[in-house]
Amino acid sequence: TFIAFEGGDGAGKSTQVRRLAQAFEEAGREVVITRQPGGTTLGGELRDLVLHGGAITPRAEALVFAADKAQHVEEVILPSLEEGAVVITDRYTDSAIAYQGAGRDLGAAEVAQLQDWAVDGLVPHLTVVVDIDPGEGRRRRGAVHDRMESETDGFHAAVRGHFLALAESAPGRYLVVDGAAAPDEVARLVWQRVTQDGLA
Ligand code: C5P
Repeated sequence: TFIAFEGGDGAGKSTQVRRLAQAFEEAGREVVITRQPGGTTLGGELRDLVLHGGAITPRAEALVFAADKAQHVEEVILPSLEEGAVVITDRYTDSAIAYQGAGRDLGAAEVAQLQDWAVDGLVPHLTVVVDIDPGEGRRRRGAVHDRMESETDGFHAAVRGHFLALAESAPGRYLVVDGAAAPDEVARLVWQRVTQDGLA
């Protein structure tokens, strides 16, 4: 079982990733938690480069995130799935489609194609979009930690809109939850959907 969490900065994805992992473990499943960018040694270096390094053009940024993902899928995700583990990733291809495609104006279709090539077509069984108003996300994060977080609310609004559009385009593979709701409630809705889809 392969599950991705997507959504804006400050939505509460990381909390929900941990909560879902716990639920799977209580159900007796082995779980691997990972994140993008940065789930591998190379990925960690790429993450630093793109989030904290010097100038980078939008296309270069898209390619670095794609490289991170290619490494991540082959090194972590596929081997874990083959061993029968549940893999939960904090961000996956939709983040690139939304941030670089919609946010940076590179074109969502082109970035989707690039991502699909990078991950060799590996699609999650379920993608949970944790939706949050960009202003609320910014308040929750507090200080700016990286390059993306210093982007305007307009950028983050475009990103948010695109996550929701992706979810609408394939409701069978997506669950949208309200990131402003209580974490317990969000976790309950996610687990309900996971069991409903037979993924537990
Ligand atoms: O969620 P996390 O803090 O790991 O994300 C790191 C940063 O990278 C976030 O600020 C996110 O907006 C950004 N990002 C991005 N494009 C991606 C993936 C993440 O701009 N494809």
